[in-house]
Amino acid sequence: METINAWSKYTDAEKKKIFSFAEDYRKFISKCKTERECVTEAVEIAKKAGYKDLNDIISSGKKLKAGDKVFAVNMKKAILLFNIGKKPMEEGLNILGAHIDSPRIDVKQNPVYEDRDLVLFDTHYYGGIKKYQWVAREMAIHGVVALKNGKILEVNVGDNPGDPVFCVTDLLVHLAQKQLEKDGEHVVEGEDLNLLVGSMPEKKRASEKISDEKELVKKNLLAILKKKYGFEEADFLSAELEIVPAGEARDCGFDSSMIMGYGHDDRVCSYPSLIAQVETDTLEKTGVTILVDKEEIGSVGATGMTSRFFENTVAEVMDRAGQYSELSVRRALANSKMLSSDVSSAYDPNYPSFFETKNVAYLGHGVVFNKFTGVRGKSGSNDASAEYIGRLRKIMDDNKVTFQTAELGKVDIGGGGTIAYILATYGMHVIDSGVAVLNMHAPAEIISKVDIYEALKCYRAFLRDGGNV
Ligand code: MN
Ligand code: MN
Repeated sequence: METINAWSKYTDAEKKKIFSFAEDYRKFISKCKTERECVTEAVEIAKKAGYKDLNDIISSGKKLKAGDKVFAVNMKKAILLFNIGKKPMEEGLNILGAHIDSPRIDVKQNPVYEDRDLVLFDTHYYGGIKKYQWVAREMAIHGVVALKNGKILEVNVGDNPGDPVFCVTDLLVHLAQKQLEKDGEHVVEGEDLNLLVGSMPEKKRASEKISDEKELVKKNLLAILKKKYGFEEADFLSAELEIVPAGEARDCGFDSSMIMGYGHDDRVCSYPSLIAQVETDTLEKTGVTILVDKEEIGSVGATGMTSRFFENTVAEVMDRAGQYSELSVRRALANSKMLSSDVSSAYDPNYPSFFETKNVAYLGHGVVFNKFTGVRGKSGSNDASAEYIGRLRKIMDDNKVTFQTAELGKVDIGGGGTIAYILATYGMHVIDSGVAVLNMHAPAEIISKVDIYEALKCYRAFLRDGGNV
């Protein structure tokens, strides 16, 4: 059975809508390169759409009723949005979920060192990357530094006009014969991903003789950090600085049908989920969007999907709506339906042998459903039920959403995890869905504009009708 190219069903006028939505998304990922930046922007977008902070509702003792909209932020790195439906929440929620962390390189806690008049930051990469892809290119630094006095400094260098950029240098090809004989995993070692950040000493030497003073370049760099950004070397201990590819996402192809940029995984699902959530009017069943951190390292930690934050917040929302009991919360979760959205691997014409062509996602062929992910015997996958998929097919067809079903690659080659299995532990129906990506986990990934548009349509339809599944 063949899938169709989603572009072919649209008129020129409709294509304008697709391009306009894709342009909003392009701006979003160009600006939001960390989970914190995604949350800040999501709060802005939610507030404009009438969403209120759940903490304010709780502290002021207000109640929630059908049509009310609230958000809850977890440690500035994850966010939940609720659109309270007319039906009791016990009957289940319609949940969209995606992650807002992306592979990158993090600055270590004691990072600064000087080597032969060059200053570098030592790093530890985050998520699964082909390390050799992240060298010899322009990088930016986004993050925060928490001072002892409680003040939080925001750092964002490399993406604004006139900003300097940074680089993990690579060995020149002329000397790389030995390096190039190594297998890909070891061409660039994790411990060698050190970021070049400075090369100029502190001051003019007092005399012609070589100064006894050491590390003058590092001194100069620390002085700049103090003056320009207000922090000292010791403050790196309580910093979260993420090294990300510098520059904006760009249109890709002569037809501008694609977007190439950093962090499609998984903002290409997060953004349309967020937009579908905030533009949806009063619903029959409560609509929820989860944008969560730490998926790329196993959904662990307080801001990852395995944290109790989601469950606790559902309890708080039900309490404010006068619907709380321990049993009601359990029923609400068990009766929920979820689209757990993450990127899927798109068929790559340069590497056809890695894909099984009947069961891979194609760029431009619409939103992707993965019944299961996993590898070698579906290991570790959430296997969505046939009944659930059957009804989702009807929702997609009724709403003219172009979709395709896929696996990541050939059965025994490899796989990847998502947040789907975590929500499935409540006994709710969950399926992996999302958008196909080329160059997954590379510094610049590629998606099709029509695919993100089909995802938006899919999420709108699911928030309206998912509960009838
Ligand atoms: Mn990923
Ligand atoms: Mn992902």
